[in-house]
Amino acid sequence: MKLHEYQSKQIFARFGIPIPAGDVAEMPTEARRIAERIGGRVVVKSQVLVGGRGKAGGILLADNPDQTEKVATRILGMNIKGLKVRKVLVDQAVDIAQEIYLGLVIDRSAQRVVMIASAAGGMEIEEVARATPEKIVRAVIDPFLGLQIFQARGLAFGIGLDKTLWSGFVSIARSLYQAFVACDASLAEINPLALTDKGQLLAVDAKIVLDDNALFRHPDLAVLRDVDEEDVYERQAREHRLSYVRLDGDIGCMVNGAGLAMATMDLIKLYGGAPANFLDIGGGAQADRVAVALRIILSDQNVKAVLINIFGGITRCDEVARGILAAFAEVKADVPMVVRLVGTNEVEGRRILAEAKMITATSLAEAAQKAVVAASSK
Ligand code: GDP
Ligand code: MN
Repeated sequence: MKLHEYQSKQIFARFGIPIPAGDVAEMPTEARRIAERIGGRVVVKSQVLVGGRGKAGGILLADNPDQTEKVATRILGMNIKGLKVRKVLVDQAVDIAQEIYLGLVIDRSAQRVVMIASAAGGMEIEEVARATPEKIVRAVIDPFLGLQIFQARGLAFGIGLDKTLWSGFVSIARSLYQAFVACDASLAEINPLALTDKGQLLAVDAKIVLDDNALFRHPDLAVLRDVDEEDVYERQAREHRLSYVRLDGDIGCMVNGAGLAMATMDLIKLYGGAPANFLDIGGGAQADRVAVALRIILSDQNVKAVLINIFGGITRCDEVARGILAAFAEVKADVPMVVRLVGTNEVEGRRILAEAKMITATSLAEAAQKAVVAASSK
């Protein structure tokens, strides 16, 4: 779950990271009042859960409260990468001498949290990593020791920071790590960490992504979820407890069990296709959940074929087959459906589906091949 910049900044501030004075507004008049309170120049920033807001025109400077109201009127309601701006953050503007990147991510292969720093801040770190990897320095953090001072100093040295700024940088780095761990985050990022013309380090942007699997431990953070910003189908999936991740291929997958879903995706790739999603409908496979899952899969315009791979254990295959038919009658789609049902009553299940003109398969390899053919001939 992604947090907004203003929410992330509030968390960072609690852990002692310096942030600009500012507040969030939903109305231009509110934005004006915040600017009056701050005094001087402000920056009005759209609060949407995508990066690159600056380039999209969602970040504008304003010299006075009048102008702030005008600028906020312009930004509120704006559409940025498909998301409607409903809130703006009004922050004290600062004069930036240098933009630094500082972030924490989980490196799964190292099985550690890794802190990343770069003197080339402001832009997307993925871009920096691609074009100029030598500009990125990393520190791998031992979970029992936490981020050590020497490591943070090493990063300060690595990005060529002036020595007078090291202690400030070390304290921000340590606070960032504490915030990351305390929230069970999967990402915490300050980009840019601005070095102001007055020689102060300030988190001008903030981003936290929380680990959904740990949200149950953080009811105070769970309520920060902004449902207006969520993909409507990912939200439906979450509400029906379906694990759904949209991908960029063209074969929709409906599978019960995460491991089976992964294997299904692998086989689609093996036979030259590309999965449009990961979807685990979990145990039971009741008709209503099958219908929801099918609707979610078909909402993706890229889907040219659907592969349903269900293992009938507790739920019998004939029941699953009837569930699929009921769902299909309700959703109505003209994409080919390849179904592989195995387990209890599988013969009966396949018979029901074949009568309904669905493509059936017995082995997973056969199902994957048929789905790839169906998708490419569409
Ligand atoms: P993003 O584009 O969504 O990552 O939004 P950011 O908050 O990182 O802002 C993008 C850019 O706007 C920053 O890299 C800065 O160059 C600029 N910016 C943001 N806040 C200020 C500010 O207070 N003063 C100045 N001069 N520039 C700012
Ligand atoms: Mn940024």
